[in-house]
Amino acid sequence: MDAISSWWVNLFGHCHPYINDALVDQLNKIEHVMFAGFTHEPAVELAERLTQITPGNLDHCFFASDGSSATEIALKMSFHYWQLYGNTDKINFISLRNGYHGETLGSLSVTEIPFFKQTYAPLLRSTKYMPSPDWRNISDNETHLEFALKAASELESFLSKHHTQTAAFILEPIVQAAGGMGMYHPIYLQRARAICDKYQVHLIADEIAVGFGRTGKMFACEHAEIVPDLLCLAKGLTGGYLPLSVVMTTDKIYQAFYQDEVSKAFVHSHSHTGNALACRASLATLDLIEQYNVIEANQAKIDYLNQLALPLQSHSSVKNFRNCGMIWAFEVETDDPQFSNNFFQKALEKQLLLRPLGKTVYFMPPYIINEYEIEHLVNSVLQIINLQ
Ligand SMILES: *Cc1c(COP(=O)(O)O)cnc(C)c1O
Repeated sequence: MDAISSWWVNLFGHCHPYINDALVDQLNKIEHVMFAGFTHEPAVELAERLTQITPGNLDHCFFASDGSSATEIALKMSFHYWQLYGNTDKINFISLRNGYHGETLGSLSVTEIPFFKQTYAPLLRSTKYMPSPDWRNISDNETHLEFALKAASELESFLSKHHTQTAAFILEPIVQAAGGMGMYHPIYLQRARAICDKYQVHLIADEIAVGFGRTGKMFACEHAEIVPDLLCLAKGLTGGYLPLSVVMTTDKIYQAFYQDEVSKAFVHSHSHTGNALACRASLATLDLIEQYNVIEANQAKIDYLNQLALPLQSHSSVKNFRNCGMIWAFEVETDDPQFSNNFFQKALEKQLLLRPLGKTVYFMPPYIINEYEIEHLVNSVLQIINLQ
């Protein structure tokens, strides 16, 4: 049982007959066609449907092939937008400590996890990292809310000094996934939106891991009822079947590039941009999200897992047990330097694919998980932890 959805991409399990059929059908129509001065039905339909389900006025889609490319596009688009309006000093980006946005050079620059970037540091642009609102770093007597507000006030104090050189602030809304499933209070997003507005800095929401119902809302930004200037989607976008990403933005940003002069247009091309098979897998995934009524149906599964996980939550070796939608995580107190790998092996013996991030064990199951499978998952993990 793939209890981490193959690195968070899979929404409805492997080889889902409905997505399989859609792909076979698409294969017999058109597999791929270049996306320059050209288009195809699945891409148009996907763009239309995404604009309907995403928050606010994110009415334009720019397709690419994977999550890292989506980050690159959002950064380039923000920078270029400010250039077009004469804000030529706005050439820097800021992001959150312990944030992850991909591993190509631009996206790695805004990623702040040493494991990924240490070796390549000399190749990367310098980025300023804002304190993370991740409540694992809370001190005694402090609430999640107070901690998030404190992080937001540090963001404000930075931008009050440096906004004229800052193009955009990129963050993972609500859950910092690769950073160990760190979760934070939505007030931070609300404050970040207000501060970015005040100082004319774009807010880029990287929902590559958390979009499409993962946090219990269709998009994580909805927890704070905010609309970013740029929204990055990938991973679950195709139900995990094929690589595809999209950057969504407002008409205001789109219009800035709608010019005849090439240097004023947004130039970013990938050979497989808007691949027809990937778009079709994505349309089938959106159908399933609607048919299964995912947001509501998942709630019963979330409640059931939380109830079964009470012994895990109160276990003496378990710290910071947390849950947000279809994401659960906790730290295990252990002296085993090979904990992650050993846990992975022990889970495999119990027919479970789990891959802790360091000492953080997390569950991110596909939405088709049933009660029996939830029992198997939680009970097996309890057994492994008890043997620690
Ligand atoms: C996975 C991930 C990316 C990178 O996506 P790839 O498709 O692996 O390049 C970027 N941001 C976040 C938040 C991610 O979880």
